[in-house]
Amino acid sequence: MERTLVILKPDTVQRQVCGEIITRFEKVGLKIVGIKMIRPASDFAEKHYYDVKERHGEKVLNGLKEYLGMGPVIAFVLEGPSVIEQVRKMVGKTEPFSSPPGTIRGDYSNMTYKRADDPTTPIKSVYNLIHASANEKDAEHEINLWFSDSELWSYQTVHELFI
Ligand code: ADP
Repeated sequence: MERTLVILKPDTVQRQVCGEIITRFEKVGLKIVGIKMIRPASDFAEKHYYDVKERHGEKVLNGLKEYLGMGPVIAFVLEGPSVIEQVRKMVGKTEPFSSPPGTIRGDYSNMTYKRADDPTTPIKSVYNLIHASANEKDAEHEINLWFSDSELWSYQTVHELFI
């Protein structure tokens, strides 16, 4: 069965909306197979965002490292059919302002690229609450980085009978 990595970023933890967001995934029948709270060090964040420098440049990567290091995050692995695409659909677009209502980023923020890039504010990145693996290759890399095999569990949910 397919798996994906989700991270509730420091803004989500500090806004105390983790439960509401996790509930959205549980409601559609996705299964949590591993979960933990950690404060990612800068080199760990860089390993996680291994291609961001190439895709967005060094400034975005540095901002992201500051963002992720602002406090603890909650990371979990979700399992389900087509879970990578399903979760990305629920998360929305990178920029919360462009994410439609109903998506997590669209429902919880109106952050724009413009504000994230404004040097006159203390904002360090596009604060957008949540990370979700983009594709199968990233999911494999990210799950192996964040979780050991012994931290991932196998069990049956009632959803598996009905959804
Ligand atoms: P996503 O998280 O939607 O998959 P990316 O992997 O492209 O997006 O980027 C990783 C993270 O970097 C984003 O979630 C966002 O927090 C931040 N980010 C992306 N682009 C920018 C940008 N132009 N300026 C500031 N931060 C950015």
